[in-house]
Amino acid sequence: MKIIDLYTKKTGPIFSFEFFPPKTQEGETKLKSTIGELKSLNPGFVSVTYGAGGSTKDKTIDICAEIQTNFSILSMSHFTCVGASRDEILTTLKHIQSKGIENVIALRGDPPAGTGKFTPHPKGFSNATELVEFIRQNQLPFSIAGGCYPEKHPDSPDFSSDIANLKKKVDAGAQFLITQLFFDNQKYAEFLNKTKSAQISAPIVPGIMPITSFSQIERFKSLANCSIPVELEEKLTEVKENQAEFLNRSLDFTINQCKELLAMGVPGIHFYTLNQSRATREILETLL
Ligand SMILES: Cc1cc2nc3c(=O)[nH]c(=O)nc-3n(C[C@H](O)[C@H](O)[C@H](O)COP(=O)(O)OP(=O)(O)OC[C@H]3O[C@@H](n4cnc5c(N)ncnc54)[C@H](O)[C@@H]3O)c2cc1C
Repeated sequence: MKIIDLYTKKTGPIFSFEFFPPKTQEGETKLKSTIGELKSLNPGFVSVTYGAGGSTKDKTIDICAEIQTNFSILSMSHFTCVGASRDEILTTLKHIQSKGIENVIALRGDPPAGTGKFTPHPKGFSNATELVEFIRQNQLPFSIAGGCYPEKHPDSPDFSSDIANLKKKVDAGAQFLITQLFFDNQKYAEFLNKTKSAQISAPIVPGIMPITSFSQIERFKSLANCSIPVELEEKLTEVKENQAEFLNRSLDFTINQCKELLAMGVPGIHFYTLNQSRATREILETLL
């Protein structure tokens, strides 16, 4: 089944979850129990990230296949072009297809941590648009998603060029878009206006993640182009020594953020779960 059909059928908002491939056996066991716990919330699909620099390639694909076979949940494999030639990319995409995975999110990717600026492989691609074009040219029958940035991609000199590039990515064949995480719905609304003016009609699904620990605040702030509203930061900082109250306040914020997004008529919400079930479950249970 193709994920784009879920959005075009317009049967109501599609809730989806994102996981990452664990590094240890213990992490894998935990992920399976998280998926089991979240399955009862009937996600439209789940996705599994592709480690920086393609480091988790086989694990990503295996976990996606296992989720479909053992949990009967539709899965989408993340896929990046970092460090891979066109031939290698084609081989991996055919492997994904052979595992019965019909959905990919095609990304440029970030270089492995600490290696700085993105450098294209000499026989590879410079951006996700080229990757999407390649998938379409090779007639691989995937439903293709792309990433997008309500606060602009950090490599773009200005918003208008970023939006113009996003339009190229959609015209190349990206059928729906999932945003970078954000905390300010106003920024998402302004971004939607910009995409509308650029005649981008693909569904734009907000990517949402609750802040579950104080240390995440600094991490998100250093994550390029994801601002945290001052009031939220102040409210959370007040209770940084009290984890239970911290979580209460943070989840309250995210629940309200999601309610407002649903009232705006979003096509769905994609939750960045960090392989934990509790926060996502608590949020979604209040929305359903
Ligand atoms: C939903 C989501 C999931 C993600 N999952 C992963 C993951 O699993 N693994 C991982 O490593 N990273 C992941 N990332 C991070 C992502 O790889 C980085 O943010 C990366 O820097 C950009 O990827 P992209 O595909 O959005 O880039 P692109 O769409 O290629 O954009 C990157 C830059 O190139 C420009 N650009 C795009 N098209 C063109 C064009 N035709 N001509 C000129 N310039 C162009 C853009 O304006 C932008 O400045 C994810 C991001 C999102 C939003």
